Amino acid sequence: MKTPQIFILLGRSGCGKGTQAKLLQEKFGLNYISSGDFLRERIKTCDFTGKKMERMMKTGFFVPTPIIMNILLDILEGYKKDKQNLKGIIFDGVPRKLIEAQVLDQALEWYEWDKNTRVLLIDISETEAFNRLTKRRICQNCGKLIPYIGHYKDITKCDDCGGELVMRPDDKEEAIKSRLNEFSDKTEPVVDYYEKQGRLIRINGEQSIEDVHREILEKIN
Ligand SMILES: [Zn+2]
Repeated sequence: MKTPQIFILLGRSGCGKGTQAKLLQEKFGLNYISSGDFLRERIKTCDFTGKKMERMMKTGFFVPTPIIMNILLDILEGYKKDKQNLKGIIFDGVPRKLIEAQVLDQALEWYEWDKNTRVLLIDISETEAFNRLTKRRICQNCGKLIPYIGHYKDITKCDDCGGELVMRPDDKEEAIKSRLNEFSDKTEPVVDYYEKQGRLIRINGEQSIEDVHREILEKIN
């Protein structure tokens, strides 16, 4: 059996991680774990934790580590039980704190998926991130996120379904600022953690989607 390929994507909100994760997912047939997706899914249960998460995410604060890791470990356990041959996993939006990176390393070791791990930082400046986040939009009809980069800057309707484009409710200026502050305070130490171990692959995120993807493919080979 081939060792599964594990990708961990880091970067400020707005760096295009989600887009790049999907491109890598398709190229290598990976399972995609996005904290944004699994948290939104968890919120739908409308129980105590779901409701509290919703409030925290609206204000741009991180959901605490035990809650995040509990959901994440359930997903990994599910992959392990699944008898299909796992090609790999891509993590988007987790780990966001040093302790999460350490727990994730131990979890990957536990499941014996730690032999082929790559950590990618999609690097954009804080100013660029702020600019992109305040200007990006979402399709009211299909939910597609339209980034504020390249040709997307000029479109007025969703390029998939023609739906109206609106601001995402959690993209309020205050929430964006606190998301970016959380990155500086909590996620920069994660970047340092991987860098000190010589595991960090830095990618210039301030170029077109295609060029970012190309740089990733070059650097992981
Ligand atoms: Zn649409």
